[in-house]
Amino acid sequence: MSILFSPAQIGTLQLRNHLVMTPMHLGYSPQGEVTDQLIEFYRARARGGVGLIVVGGCGIDRIGNAFGMTQLDEDRFIPGLRRLVDAVHAEGAKIVPQLYQAGRYAHSVLTGQPAVAPSPIPSKLTRETPVELTEEKIKEVIASFAGAAKRAQSAGFDGVEIIASAGYLISQFLSPLTNHRTDRYGGDLQERMTFGLEVVGAVREAVGPEFPIIVRVAGNDFVPGSNTNTESRAFCQALEKAGVNALNVTGGWHETQVPQLTMNVPPGAYAYLAHGIKTAVSIPVIACNRINTPELAEGILEEGLADFIGMARPLLADPELPNKAMSGQSGRIRPCIGCNQGCLDYVFRLKPVSCLVNAEAGREAELGPIRQAAETQQILVIGAGAAGMEFARVAALGGHEVTIWEESGQTGGQLALAAAPPGRQDFLYFADYLANACRELGVRIQYNTKAAPDKILAAVQNGQFNRVVLATGAQPITPPIKIEAGAEVLQAWDVLLGRKKTGRNVIIVGGGAVGVDTALLLAEAGTMDSQTLRFLMLQQAETDQELHRLLTQGTKTITVLEMAKEIGRDIGPSTRWSMLADLKRYKVNCLSKHTVLEIRSDGVLVESANDGVQKVIPSDTVVLAVGSCSRNELYQALQDKIENLSIIGDAVKPRKVLDAVHEAYAEGRK
Ligand code: SF4
Repeated sequence: MSILFSPAQIGTLQLRNHLVMTPMHLGYSPQGEVTDQLIEFYRARARGGVGLIVVGGCGIDRIGNAFGMTQLDEDRFIPGLRRLVDAVHAEGAKIVPQLYQAGRYAHSVLTGQPAVAPSPIPSKLTRETPVELTEEKIKEVIASFAGAAKRAQSAGFDGVEIIASAGYLISQFLSPLTNHRTDRYGGDLQERMTFGLEVVGAVREAVGPEFPIIVRVAGNDFVPGSNTNTESRAFCQALEKAGVNALNVTGGWHETQVPQLTMNVPPGAYAYLAHGIKTAVSIPVIACNRINTPELAEGILEEGLADFIGMARPLLADPELPNKAMSGQSGRIRPCIGCNQGCLDYVFRLKPVSCLVNAEAGREAELGPIRQAAETQQILVIGAGAAGMEFARVAALGGHEVTIWEESGQTGGQLALAAAPPGRQDFLYFADYLANACRELGVRIQYNTKAAPDKILAAVQNGQFNRVVLATGAQPITPPIKIEAGAEVLQAWDVLLGRKKTGRNVIIVGGGAVGVDTALLLAEAGTMDSQTLRFLMLQQAETDQELHRLLTQGTKTITVLEMAKEIGRDIGPSTRWSMLADLKRYKVNCLSKHTVLEIRSDGVLVESANDGVQKVIPSDTVVLAVGSCSRNELYQALQDKIENLSIIGDAVKPRKVLDAVHEAYAEGRK
C-alpha cells in the first residue's frame, strides 16, 4: 500500500490520505463571499480524492487582503462558508481555511487603505510604503486572526492554517529585512518571532485545545539577508511548543529572485526544505512546490523527507489526480506543466484563476459534465497540435467519431517549439497527454497525411465526414528586410526544432517569447550538462569561479535585437523575470529599441531608437524570431464549399497556448 494514499492524522483530524491541496489564490469571491464557482471548484477536487483542502488565502481583515479573496472577517460570511464545508465533507475530504494577512504586500488600490507592516519598508511588489503598526494596532490584527479562526470553527471547518511565509505579514515580522522595530516585536530572532507566536496563541485560545492548527512557513526566504532554513527551524520548534499541529513548508518570498514555481524548477527540488524542518520537530511536516506527480510524491514520503505532500496546481490541472493514481491510472493524469499561464499569470493580472491544460478549471459550476450528443457526427480535424487534439478529445467525449489528419509524423505541433529551450520540456507532457487521451477515446490520428482542399472536399462529398475543423496552426514570418547575398539567415522555428545549426556569433532578430527561447537554447549549448555539474558539485563543496564560468559560458556569442522597449514582453509575468535573469547569467546581449535595417553577410545593420546611431553588429548567423502568421489557406479555399466548417487555434490568429486550448475546448463542446 502506498504511503501517499494511506490514512493519516494531523492533531485530532483524521484524513483519508497524505495528500493536501495547498492554498492558491483563486479570485472566485469578488465580494468576499463564498460563490457557487468556489464551491463547485473545491467539490470537484474533494470528489477527486484529495485528503485535505486548504482554502486560501482567506482575509482576516480588509487591510491585508487581495482581489477576489474569500473573507473570514465578518459573521455574515459564515452561512456561505458552511455550504463550502458541507460540499467538501460530502465528498469525503476535510477542509481548512488559510488565515491571510498580506502586510506590506497588500495593494492600497485594491484595499482602499494603506498597507500595514512591522516597519515602513517600501514593498518591491507594490512600490508602496506601508504604515508601521503601533502596538495597539498589532493587538487588533492578532484579534482579527483569532476572530477569523473562531468563525472558521463555527462554519464547520476542520481546522485552520495560518500563513507565516511568502513575505506576508508574519514573515515580515520574522525577517530582519522588514522588521526594524525596537519594541518587543523587533530585535533578535527570538523577539522577531513574538508576533507570529502571539497570533498562534490567540488563535489557539479562540478555538480551544483540540482544533487543528497548521502554520505555513518558508523553508528559506531566498532573499539575501533574510531567514534561511536555520532560522525557520527555530521558529518551527517554537510553533510546536505553542501547540501547532502541523507545518506546511513552502519556499521563498514573492520578491525572491530564486525561481520557485516556474517550469525550469526541477520537480521536487524544494523537498529538502521540508526535510530540514522535519529534522527539528516531531509534528507532521508537509512538503510542497513543484511536486507534480503521485510517483514523485510517494518517493518523497518513502525517503522520509516529509510526512505529507502538498499539491495545488496539479489538482487545478486534474482534480481526479488522486483517484486516477489510486486506481493505477497515473498515465491518464492531465499534467500540470508549470507554465503558470492560467494560474499565477492570471492572478498578477487580477483575473480569476484558470489553467492552460484544463479549460474546465474554475468553470465547474457553469459547465457541468460533457454530455453525449443526440446525434453522432463524423468529424475531420486537420492538424494534431494542441488545439486540434483538445478539440478532438472533447468532441470524442461527446460521442462523436473523430479523425485527425496530421501532416507530420508526430503530434503536438507548436508545443514542440515551446518545449525546446532548457527547462521547458514539460510542454511535451501535455502533448503526450492529449495524444493518449485521443487514442483512448478512439480518435484516429493519421500521420504524414497532407490535407489538400480537393481531398477534404471529396471526403465530405462522399459522406466520410459531415464536419471539418481546421487546426492548421501558424507559420513563422519573414520580415521585409534587405538581405545581402551570402548572409546566413535562419528561422527561429528551425533552430528550436534542431533542423538548422547556427554559427558561433548569432544575432536573433525579435525579442519576444520565441526570440528569448531561442537565445536561451543557443546560450546553453556548450555549457556544462547537469550530470557533470552534479558530479563536480559533489566533489567541490564551494563553487569556484571557474565552475561558475563553465556553468554559464557556452560556446556562442548571442545578441537579441528587439524593436520594442522591452525584451520578452509577451511572456507571462510569473515566468518572464526568471527567463530574463537566465539571459543575463548567460551574458546574452539584449538590445531593445533597435531596428534592423539590413542583414549583411558579415553582420546586421541596426539603428538605435535612443540616439538614432546606426552600426553593424558582426555575426555569422542571423535567426529570425519576428512572429508568426496563421496558416489558413485551407479555410480560404473551403469556406464557401463546406457548410459545417470551422477554424480554431493559431489558424485563426497566433495566440498563447492557453487561449488556443480553451477555444478548442469550447468548440468541441458545441
Ligand atoms: Fe499548471 Fe500551467 Fe495549469 Fe498553472 S496553468 S495549473 S502551471 S498547467
